[in-house]
Amino acid sequence: MGSVVENLAEVRTRIVVAATRSGREPETVQLVAVSKHQPVEAIRQAMEAGQMLFGENYLQEAQEKIGQLGARGGWHCIGHVQSNKARLAAELFQCVETVDRVKLAAALDKRLTELGRRMDVLVQVNVGGEAQKSGVNPQEAAALCEALQQFPMLRLRGLMTMPPWQEDPEASRPYFRQLRLLAEKLAAAGLLGQHGPVMLSMGMSADFEVAIEEGATLVRVGTALFGERL
Ligand SMILES: *Cc1c(COP(=O)(O)O)cnc(C)c1O
Repeated sequence: MGSVVENLAEVRTRIVVAATRSGREPETVQLVAVSKHQPVEAIRQAMEAGQMLFGENYLQEAQEKIGQLGARGGWHCIGHVQSNKARLAAELFQCVETVDRVKLAAALDKRLTELGRRMDVLVQVNVGGEAQKSGVNPQEAAALCEALQQFPMLRLRGLMTMPPWQEDPEASRPYFRQLRLLAEKLAAAGLLGQHGPVMLSMGMSADFEVAIEEGATLVRVGTALFGERL
């Protein structure tokens, strides 16, 4: 594996190729560099190479890193957020991609109201219906999106998913497609799309190109950029 800077250049190229191949503008796909369990120095190198958007899973870890590196990049929360940590999440992140219940949304909105700041959120959908994964079931997504409209500080931008892990990236395709079709349905019902183009966060190191072919606008890539996690 190359250096962070080399990996970043390679992943960016692969994003452009996958977008172009599927008839999409490469700028419509944003790279979220997943930096959980990666050293601050590696993140700094990525920042110096122009990467501004990062994803973190754990609140405490994110707090330490953002403290050291500054909020100048965008930081997305891509891990499960306990409701009692919602205040901290509201303070740290530009976007929480993992909203999966009203209680969490209410707690975020409350803190954001105190801060006088709005935040982008995505609804996490458990497309594989896996018991151990967070996210709403696809059938519950409309009700949650509807409920989120009551929170003035939350801008609901789209959906996020993490399909069941499988060796073959092609095996993720039906799940990515399912998320896109669900988003189209929700947009047609007026539940998504009020705050600009609908965002779809899907695809990781092993399958981000397939996700882009299926409409991803955010790909969350960790190990392909930074190597194995500590
Ligand atoms: C860790 C993580 C990723 C990145 O996974 P890689 O396989 O290292 O690219 C993406 N999304 C979520 C939600 C994660 O927890």
